[in-house]
Amino acid sequence: MKDQARVVVIGGGIAGCSALYHLTREGWSDVMLIERDELTSGTTWHSAAQVTNFGMNQTMIGLKSHSIALYKELRDDPDYPVGYNYADGGIRLANTPEQMDGYRHFTSVAAGMGVGFEVIDAAECARRHPLISADNLLGGLWDPHDGHIDPAQLCQALARRARLAGAEVNRHTPVTGLTQQADHTWTVHTEKGDVRAEIVVNAGGYRCNEIGAMMGISHPVASMEHQYFLTEDIPAITEASHRMPLLRCPISDYYCRQEKGGLLLGFYEQDCRTWGLDGIDPHFSNALCP
Ligand SMILES: Cc1cc2nc3c(=O)[nH]c(=O)nc-3n(C[C@H](O)[C@H](O)[C@H](O)COP(=O)(O)OP(=O)(O)OC[C@H]3O[C@@H](n4cnc5c(N)ncnc54)[C@H](O)[C@@H]3O)c2cc1C
Repeated sequence: MKDQARVVVIGGGIAGCSALYHLTREGWSDVMLIERDELTSGTTWHSAAQVTNFGMNQTMIGLKSHSIALYKELRDDPDYPVGYNYADGGIRLANTPEQMDGYRHFTSVAAGMGVGFEVIDAAECARRHPLISADNLLGGLWDPHDGHIDPAQLCQALARRARLAGAEVNRHTPVTGLTQQADHTWTVHTEKGDVRAEIVVNAGGYRCNEIGAMMGISHPVASMEHQYFLTEDIPAITEASHRMPLLRCPISDYYCRQEKGGLLLGFYEQDCRTWGLDGIDPHFSNALCP
């Protein structure tokens, strides 16, 4: 392991791997990622990993369409192709005129950025997704680029590209402390030695407060429990001639996508529970909440 780098990124989930890759893409090759376990040992590996262009403002739409273009490039890389179900399509449902107006407004904002969406009626929603009932439905917002990606492969692919551009990736190397020097540079203490860095990126996921504490910073961040469940095979899906579009329902607050011959369904919990506020077991890694 090098003993100095211009930037040290702590954490090898999607945030850390993406930060490392994008630094190298901007020409910063003297960069290092430090991960306490294997890459993507925190949340990323078990994400539903849905990738949409939808965002509430132009910044988010721009970020998301950048991601989709990058993921397509990674999917098509013959040296390390990432599993990416691009363009299954997705429908955001609506049952009030106000929601439909909101979708029309959003469609014109996105069109101004060159990103295509379509507002469709209830019958068209049901035609595009065989499991939708049009009862009590006014219509929806169609995202033709919606899909989902293999999140673990994505992290590996970004780290691989960063390595090829000169970055160093150190796995099984927990960061144990951070000391800021008088010249504002940092000494990153790890179980395998110290690294001097101009800039430190905290990409520790649900452990970001542990890393913040090493810097003497209290981040206003709390992790929330979130769950999805998987169904068994559903004949209407296995017998369909196309993959199911993704569904997001702001009415009942759930999302849903195809997983093998069944569905993956997640709810945006109304009565959410925080997780790990009183500390996280140091052995909790590559694990799910009980
Ligand atoms: C059930 C579920 C479904 C989701 N579905 C979606 C979805 O469909 N679409 C979407 O965009 N998002 C989704 N998300 C959210 C998304 O998964 C997370 O926002 C994202 O994975 C967080 O990535 P991260 O890199 O910040 O953290 P993590 O993936 O947790 O990575 C942090 C890394 O830092 C490492 N680390 C921590 N402390 C240290 C240390 N001291 N030293 C070295 N390394 C350290 C950890 O080992 C870990 O590998 C979902 C989340 C959940 C829980």
